Amino acid sequence: DLTAPELESESELAFEGALRPRSLAEFVGQAKVRGQLQLLLTAAKMQDRTADHILLAGPPGLGKTTLAMIVAYESGRPLRMSSGPAIQHAGDLAALLSSLTPGEVLFIDEIHRMARSAEEMLYLAMEDFRIDIMVGKGAGATSIPLDLAPFTLVGATTRSGLLPNPLRDRFGFTAHLEFYDEAELSQVLTRAAILLDFEVDREALAEIAGRCRGTPRIANRLLRRVRDFALVHGGEADVAAVRAALDLYDVDPLGLDRLDRAVLQAILERFDGGPVGLNTLAVSVGEEAETIESVVEPFLVRIGLLSRTPRGRVATPAAWRHFGAAHSQQPSL
Ligand code: ADP
Repeated sequence: DLTAPELESESELAFEGALRPRSLAEFVGQAKVRGQLQLLLTAAKMQDRTADHILLAGPPGLGKTTLAMIVAYESGRPLRMSSGPAIQHAGDLAALLSSLTPGEVLFIDEIHRMARSAEEMLYLAMEDFRIDIMVGKGAGATSIPLDLAPFTLVGATTRSGLLPNPLRDRFGFTAHLEFYDEAELSQVLTRAAILLDFEVDREALAEIAGRCRGTPRIANRLLRRVRDFALVHGGEADVAAVRAALDLYDVDPLGLDRLDRAVLQAILERFDGGPVGLNTLAVSVGEEAETIESVVEPFLVRIGLLSRTPRGRVATPAAWRHFGAAHSQQPSL
């Protein structure tokens, strides 16, 4: 799925690795967060201590993993990577924490998915660089305190609302990543095109920027498909090539994919613009209600094509205009 914000495959991981900015200066956009991180890292460096723990919050594909790597790079410290789903027991976390070298940056992706028992161990570790290890069972059980090397925790989450307060409070700084605007996405794409040694004109990059849902990961992925298209069909990588390539993959000028369009068209054509209930809508496009609600709707709401009302889902005037435009090849009388 070309428009999914999550990583799709191993090959995409390698592709992204090649395009990842290494330093704060190379990181495009998020000016506010960049400034905040710069200050925090510089202060830590001047005092020769580990930086405060950092929480990166925001939707997939906006640069959380990239920023974690940049934190390590900018502080000149090694990086250890893990993720919430890999920490299913307190013991998993104890093993990880006790093996850190002094000053190491520990990245825990999807930190909201860590086991509860590990969460509690992490509180103490973040605060005092210490953990208590339980040995034995029942009445004979005792806890042995273990000192840890000081470290900087960088946590990433797509759902900061799911983090328990005591965990959230132990981060010295929380960065909220925002969707990128088209100028920033054009910059991301220009940089990627240079790194890929792919000759493509500015207008073509702007066209991709408009179709990538505010998300650098999707921008890079679309660029890759356009590059394939130019390779196979020859000729210039211009706006026409972008349109042809992305039409082929069902990514429309607003970045809507096939399911997004099916949902909107159902509301417009079958329910006269709504309101229509979620379940009825799901049945009419043959999808799970859960998928419609968590995957399709957030983007449609964000770009103003759909509103959720107490009486059901309603297509906005902008949705009517967008699909009106799509039908404009029909002769108007
Ligand atoms: P997340 O961890 O939030 O899902 P990633 O950090 O893995 O997102 O970013 C996905 C890809 O998007 C990266 O490989 C990188 O190439 C690109 N990217 C993300 N943010 C930026 C940015 N600000 N500037 C340039 N490229 C970016």
